[in-house]
Amino acid sequence: DYDMQEKIDYVFKVVVIGDSAVGKTQILSRFAKNEFCFDSKSTIGVEFQTRTVTINEKVIKAQIWDTAGQERYRAVTSAYYRGALGAMLVYDITKRQSFDHVARWVEELRSHADSSIVIMLVGNKADLVDLRMVPTEDAVEFAEDQGLFFSETSALSGDNVESAFLKLLEEINRVVS
Ligand code: GDP
Repeated sequence: DYDMQEKIDYVFKVVVIGDSAVGKTQILSRFAKNEFCFDSKSTIGVEFQTRTVTINEKVIKAQIWDTAGQERYRAVTSAYYRGALGAMLVYDITKRQSFDHVARWVEELRSHADSSIVIMLVGNKADLVDLRMVPTEDAVEFAEDQGLFFSETSALSGDNVESAFLKLLEEINRVVS
């Protein structure tokens, strides 16, 4: 409501990117609504979701954008990245190809987004332990090499989703203040 809005110190735009079906929409709804939707893709048409958190005594409204399936058509353009201070770059730990494409997504960010954008690399579906195809060490090495933050999450169980977003927002807060 109006009283809440008055107290907001910052609005941070964050984009969620990565190959199709890695769990971007589910990660977002886990963070924004603490929900996992088994009947997925119900969010088509929704451009962003928000959640307000307090970091270092600042009230921060995270405005988190989802591609709503458009990544399939490579229609994600500069408008999507415009003004973004952070990016969640998601791959699926059970799909090697989604990790192999991460370098391309980083390139896309470097060419379309602000150079100071904070990037969190996220290996999602960590609950599927028996199906793992991407060793944690490979991702750690890539992230260190590229200067990205890194976390493995499960949108299904909720593991690390909150901490990954909070870490990203904390780092953005450090950059802007
Ligand atoms: P998007 O295309 O990247 O937005 O991917 P979705 O969020 O639509 O998820 C794709 C599929 O993976 C759906 O069937 C989800 O239910 C499933 N999924 C998403 N996150 C997880 C997760 O953490 N664990 C498991 N086991 N399945 C997940």
